[in-house]
Amino acid sequence: MVEKSLPFDEAKIREIAREFPTPFHIYDERGIRENARRLIAAFGWCDRFREHFAIKATPNPHLLSILNEEGFGGDCSSMAELLLCEAAGITGEAIMFSSNDTPAEDFVKAKELGAIINLDDVTHIEFLEKTAGLPELISLRYNPGPLRGGNAIIGKPEEAKYGVTREQLFEAYKTLKDKGVRRFGLHTMVVSNDLNPNSFVETARMLFELAVEVHERLDIRLEFVNVGGGIGIPYRPDDEPVDLEFVGAGVEAVYKELIEPADLHPLGLSMENGRMVTGPFGFLVTTAIHEKHTYKDYVGVDACMANLMRPGMYGAYHHLTVLGKEHAPAETTVDVVGSLCENNDKFAIDRQLPRIESGDLLVVHDAGAHGHAMGFQYNGKLRSAELLLQEDGTVRQIRRAETLDDYFATLDYPGI
Ligand SMILES: *Cc1c(COP(=O)(O)O)cnc(C)c1O
Repeated sequence: MVEKSLPFDEAKIREIAREFPTPFHIYDERGIRENARRLIAAFGWCDRFREHFAIKATPNPHLLSILNEEGFGGDCSSMAELLLCEAAGITGEAIMFSSNDTPAEDFVKAKELGAIINLDDVTHIEFLEKTAGLPELISLRYNPGPLRGGNAIIGKPEEAKYGVTREQLFEAYKTLKDKGVRRFGLHTMVVSNDLNPNSFVETARMLFELAVEVHERLDIRLEFVNVGGGIGIPYRPDDEPVDLEFVGAGVEAVYKELIEPADLHPLGLSMENGRMVTGPFGFLVTTAIHEKHTYKDYVGVDACMANLMRPGMYGAYHHLTVLGKEHAPAETTVDVVGSLCENNDKFAIDRQLPRIESGDLLVVHDAGAHGHAMGFQYNGKLRSAELLLQEDGTVRQIRRAETLDDYFATLDYPGI
């Protein structure tokens, strides 16, 4: 059971909200840094461990530069994400470029930055060769097919559009070797928001076994395997967080079992988590503005699905705290809703909460990854500001809120 604690109290948020009106996302720098150090320490046994933060989770360069300071690289899949990494000082092989259906110009930019290019398909070898030219180091994305389960977000591997089959993987390494590529990596991403620590150990086992087979069959020594991201976070108070030390030690044991006897040591190990890096350390703060009693009881807030679409899109649970009422009895059952003209615009359905009055501040927990980033402007909604609660307790705005001028900026029409 995880205590859904907060790095601030009601008084602090009221003070912040005087300067930055709700709704806003706020990130906890101390929490992000401590967690980053814990992940790196869990893999301390591997001197070539690297976490490439999945930029799409929270694409804010202020946060990327904090993660860069902690020794993280970046995992990109678009031009904008490459540019964000570059701006935050993440370059060269600290970038893993794991794209799919990739435009030529993205490959060109990735190559220019010296990123590790991770190919999603065998046909991309020729495409890359013709557009950017083949770099010295290439990684391949493996899709194991119907070997393992999957989950609601990522689905079953055999139905996922990503990666190459086992047969294609060996063919592709051979083709690349024949074309003069000398350095190789292997990547997969088979789970998402997974709370079972054994999943990550098993993924590492699958890739270590492949590394041994690639060496035996093709005489290629891989430089690294990347087991992907997907470490889940305890969205619900009764979820167990992933024990990072257990994962680190479990992967180490499999490394000793498979890689050392095959004489493949040292082999680099990478991950590309997004959610577990920033998710628990970001909060959406919103104000209750209406209550409504019809066939059900509703609380209307000033944030909506445009600020956090996981509940509406996946039916995902996000814990809610009513600031100042942390210890009040949960005596009402309400739907907490936003103002979008879509009935799935609900942060919570039939949630038991303390009685909420207009003006109360609500905090939506675990909004730090795939939160603001998934924001949209449908229904004329504007994306909110992002704030950073710094280690010294002061608050810095790291992205301003959008204005109506931003919303209309791409239109050329008299009067707006
Ligand atoms: C989304 C994504 C990630 C990050 O996933 P999390 O669930 O945020 O850890 C990593 N790698 C790839 C290729 C992705 O698409």
